[in-house]
Amino acid sequence: MQVRTIEVLQSELHKVKNRGEIIGLVPTMGALHDGHLALVNHAFESCDCVVVSIFVNPTQFNNASDLNHYPRDVERDVELLQKNKANTIIFTPSVEEIYKESVKAEEFDFGSITQFMEGEFRQGHFNGVGTIIKHLFEIVQPHKAFFGEKDYQQLRLIKKLVQITKQPVEVIGSPTYRETSGLAKSSRNKRLNKKQLETATLIYQALTFAKDNFNQLSIAEIKHQVIQLFEQEHQLELEYFEIASTHDLVPTETKKAEVTYRAFIAAVINEVRLIDNMALN
Ligand code: AMP
Repeated sequence: MQVRTIEVLQSELHKVKNRGEIIGLVPTMGALHDGHLALVNHAFESCDCVVVSIFVNPTQFNNASDLNHYPRDVERDVELLQKNKANTIIFTPSVEEIYKESVKAEEFDFGSITQFMEGEFRQGHFNGVGTIIKHLFEIVQPHKAFFGEKDYQQLRLIKKLVQITKQPVEVIGSPTYRETSGLAKSSRNKRLNKKQLETATLIYQALTFAKDNFNQLSIAEIKHQVIQLFEQEHQLELEYFEIASTHDLVPTETKKAEVTYRAFIAAVINEVRLIDNMALN
């Protein structure tokens, strides 16, 4: 079922809650791919009813062109979700429905987890994410909410958000779903042709290089070699490649025993910005 207003959504959810059912929420910006469907199906493993929101959230875009070019195909998305599973409520609100007259982000203090990588290169982005998710949690009041590890800093931010706001939502991460080439599925991939998609697999190759060599090479050496890899590929511009401890997500060049690390990368091809990350140890 597709609903466009908060009022209709809440009256549907009221019925679901009265039946004692577990409600899951999967927030998306639409242009759905198999990674989104995997997330929805992950939610159905432990929820009776799953709300999938489709909302291209203006306050999390720090670049007007990126917002304007973001792929949108709500009709197809709705069809896909309806075919996938019954008991899916597809929430497709307008910007006015969500933000009323003030399309503005709230300011949060998420600490170090949002300070670097995406936080550094997309100023204001995470305040926009925090704003929309806090709002969706208030509207839906789900028992559980599901987010992809593909946007790892975002997943961590949402876990922090529920601590800050004391919203009683269990936040669950889901593994990154990839093409057979290794490239992470992304709505933004729709803006690339076959050749560009092939070129973009260098992002995945850089991450696997880091993982495969993490024990043997220093972080500085890994970074140096990744930068060199990208220098040979002029179509794909490396924005950042960082290795950070999973605990605080602060980029580092020193490895400590008993600390887990993750590599994070962002690169641009044909004006399309792609991100990915991978656990290293
Ligand atoms: P988006 O529509 O890009 O905002 O993504 C909506 C949700 O799907 C977020 O929690 C993303 O992390 C998640 N997601 C996007 N791409 C993937 C993927 N390839 N694998 C797993 N989750 C994903």
